[in-house]
Amino acid sequence: MSRQYTLRLTDECATTAFRTARPNNGDNVNPTGEAYVEVKKHFDGERFFNPDAPQSRGFLDAMRWKLSSRAERSPAFVSDVAPSVPPRAVEGSRVRVTLVNHSTVLLQQQGSNLLTDPVWSDRVSPVSWAGPRRRRSPGIRWEDLPAIHLVLLSHNHYDHLDLPSLRKLAARGEAGFVVPRRVSGLLESQGIGPVHELDWGDSISLLGLTIHCVPALHFSSRGLFDRNKTLWCGYAIEAGAGVLYFAGDTAYGDHFAAIRKRFGPPRLALLPIGAYEPRWMMSSVHMGPDEAARAHQALDAETSVAIHHGTFQLADEAIDTPAKALREILRRRRIAQSSFRALNNGEFVQFD
Ligand SMILES: [Zn+2]
Repeated sequence: MSRQYTLRLTDECATTAFRTARPNNGDNVNPTGEAYVEVKKHFDGERFFNPDAPQSRGFLDAMRWKLSSRAERSPAFVSDVAPSVPPRAVEGSRVRVTLVNHSTVLLQQQGSNLLTDPVWSDRVSPVSWAGPRRRRSPGIRWEDLPAIHLVLLSHNHYDHLDLPSLRKLAARGEAGFVVPRRVSGLLESQGIGPVHELDWGDSISLLGLTIHCVPALHFSSRGLFDRNKTLWCGYAIEAGAGVLYFAGDTAYGDHFAAIRKRFGPPRLALLPIGAYEPRWMMSSVHMGPDEAARAHQALDAETSVAIHHGTFQLADEAIDTPAKALREILRRRRIAQSSFRALNNGEFVQFD
């Protein structure tokens, strides 16, 4: 059952001041009755944009980047992944966080298993014979994956929305899929569901969790003519075990402080650290390790786990550069290495 509710918005945001969430299997809720993270206007009627922040660079800049690129080379393949066999369920106040690869994380707590941006494919591109290819194995073998109850998708880029993985998850018949605005059509066209579509500031209760769709600074596209026609987001999950925050794919911005203010310090933050070089091209859409460390501090996160590194080379730095740079930056900023972990695929952290 769904119901209409009000978001607190800035003045100019008349277009999205009221909206009814799509019909779905969960109750859309506004637990506090009013306040969310402040949601600014981010849709012009046709395309989404980053409010009060730079937009992603366009096609000509991408050409300029490729022509002037001095990319660091990654190894063709690194065979250092010891796949993890996660438990079927984690109970009590424990939270177990396993990095599968890239932005794919298995979050287990209080009997529920969530996956973020699941990618098991060998390439993250529109075609199977070209585009960024896998340089490390997934940290959980498909056959060792426990029942997945919920999949959170941050946006439609190929390295985050991997249709072959989503079709396989849907075929198991156990998972619901939470997506940002205007992404549900793509999933439903593939028979993937049930899908719950949220805008920034929307929330939904599922499996005893409250999932809040929160702003991120990024862009979207899967083809040449659909740029920014679908939304991008992060998720703050209010669980019995505390607030778990998945930042999605994002540049650095003041949304981290806003999320800290609204939800309190997260028990866990999943923060992207890779695909940041060259900065002139990437800084409007991706954080580097230094900005991720600042985000960790702005959130006051108890523990952060780095995502978006180590498996696919998407920018000019090699796949292992972000994790090395993060360790150095944590040293310089006097942040405990144990509070911001760059895991290899298959490694996990557990909080009691
Ligand atoms: Zn992206």
